[in-house]
Amino acid sequence: MRSSTHTEPIGLPRTALVTGASRGIGRAIARRLARDGMVVAVHYGADGAAAQETVELIAGEGGRAFAVGAELGAFEGVRALVEGVRAGFVAQVGDGGLDVLVNNAAVTTSGGHLQDETPEGFDRVFAVNVRAPFFLVQQLLPVLRDGGAIVNIGSAVTRVSLSDELAYAMTKGAMETFTRTLANVVGARRITVNTVSPGPTQTAGLTAAMAAVPQLEEMLIGGQALPWVGQPEDIADPVAFLASADGRWITGTVIDASGGTYLGPKR
Ligand code: NAP
Repeated sequence: MRSSTHTEPIGLPRTALVTGASRGIGRAIARRLARDGMVVAVHYGADGAAAQETVELIAGEGGRAFAVGAELGAFEGVRALVEGVRAGFVAQVGDGGLDVLVNNAAVTTSGGHLQDETPEGFDRVFAVNVRAPFFLVQQLLPVLRDGGAIVNIGSAVTRVSLSDELAYAMTKGAMETFTRTLANVVGARRITVNTVSPGPTQTAGLTAAMAAVPQLEEMLIGGQALPWVGQPEDIADPVAFLASADGRWITGTVIDASGGTYLGPKR
């Protein structure tokens, strides 16, 4: 029997919300899902102009998207995002239903090492990276259609020990646990839940660091199995796969999309 999981609702285009889609990996995911025919809600935190640029890039590629701003460090922001997304889809497609949620927005801490972390920094990184996606799922479940997909963006930091990213790594570990448990919670509705975990990926921050430190590219590649610096599209493609009908039987798992970062020594 053919499953209807991850396919168009009758008479409507599929819809997606990508958090943190104003730049970087989130922008690449939003563009890819729009190319796959979804109407995309492009979420941003502070940079509305950058989110509008994502919307225009999508329109230039023949897709449909709209921007929604919400600060995810506070619960009110989650509520505002849910309302904005529902209203946006009603306006764009005549129905407030959602097919794909990509929890991508995240922050790192200003601390990093154990001794440098502050209670405020710790709370902030958990609020944005864990509490926001948790309550976003809770609040969106009534409009998330049966047969939908939730994709969380994790990080390869959970399988190695990077002592300068301690609290950040803990948030990504929490999201892996969320992924596994949530998959059982929503599975009866044929909704899949997975995490895609990038390694170092060339967003604006890494591009600037590579310009400042000429050896960095070689160092990064030296720590990976595959010989190029990860690009946002290298992450967007596996997300699109999980959100597509081809990914309908995959749930509760973590997919490493890091080009084989820190697999071990190369001999
Ligand atoms: P990025 O370039 O720093 O962009 C972050 C996005 O999240 C922006 O759209 C930003 O919106 C939004 N955001 C940040 N804080 C927010 C807040 N408090 N409230 C609402 N929105 C907020 O991120 P990225 O490097 O593309 O990373 C995307 C995902 O991949 C993250 O989950 C990250 O942990 C993961 N990851 C990245 C790498 C990497 O090397 N880049 C490696 C491993 C994992 P505004 O700009 O509008 O504020």
